[in-house]
Amino acid sequence: MRNEASRRTGFSRNGLDRQAQFRPDAARLAAMAESADARFVLVAGDRILVDVSRQPCDTQFDRPTAAPWMAGGEPVFLGSENGHAVFAVPALDEPALPDTVKAIDLRSIAMQGLLGDSQTGAAAQARSLVHWHESHRFCSRCGQESAMREGGYRRDCPACGAQHFPRTDPVAIMLAVDGDRCLLGRQARFLPDTYSALAGFIEPGETIEDAVRREVFEESGVRVGEVRYVASQPWPFVSSLMIGCIAEATSAEIRLDPAELDDALWVSREDLLTIFAGAHPTIRTPRRGAIASHLMYLWLADRVD
Ligand SMILES: [Zn+2]
Repeated sequence: MRNEASRRTGFSRNGLDRQAQFRPDAARLAAMAESADARFVLVAGDRILVDVSRQPCDTQFDRPTAAPWMAGGEPVFLGSENGHAVFAVPALDEPALPDTVKAIDLRSIAMQGLLGDSQTGAAAQARSLVHWHESHRFCSRCGQESAMREGGYRRDCPACGAQHFPRTDPVAIMLAVDGDRCLLGRQARFLPDTYSALAGFIEPGETIEDAVRREVFEESGVRVGEVRYVASQPWPFVSSLMIGCIAEATSAEIRLDPAELDDALWVSREDLLTIFAGAHPTIRTPRRGAIASHLMYLWLADRVD
């Protein structure tokens, strides 16, 4: 598994054993959450509480420490590591924190590499699940308030019996390549000079490959043929899975959709090397750890197979 390309993307590494076998046993999970060994990840919107006095920083607090910051929602069972059962709970919006604990948004956590390998994925898992419960309190079929079940991996409606499951939204992210050059684009919201791989949500009834072909054509006017899956990345903004692909271009002319992209251009391998070295005069790429950069790196290193 160490050689899997996904292992090098941000939010992919999670030290927790999810122990799904315990989820149906509510009494057991409640006892685990009350145990002195229990640990809690506190989620406040897109921020996570982080003990910044440790290296690497720590997001998993024992109950006496975490209790004053908890907003009162039911704990979601994330899994266990080293004898500690770890739960995600909503945090107060403005908890009174000591100087050693900060509420930090997940993007910054990932960009700054604040957490060790095992906690980055768990933080993404916590944020996605807590958000799902906060935004799915009521049954989408009949409108009644639903109840958390299965340690937080299901909500049941007491009125109509519907069962609701946490969503993961698939997003295709792709590097279209044409021989020794690849297609990069920039969205208006990107940092200045930043170019990245193209991306878009996979639609209902669509394969990953068809979504890649459709998105590249819609955004850039470039046609692509064969599509190969390379790597994936959990993307907790809010609950996406980025599915990284390399796509072989069959046409080269760029016709931008201005609603999607500010600009798109073909970049040679040589230029991409210069860009990665930070020496290109006008083009930047996303940081390492972002799956877009990882796709570019693998293509550059000729390791997409
Ligand atoms: Zn219902």
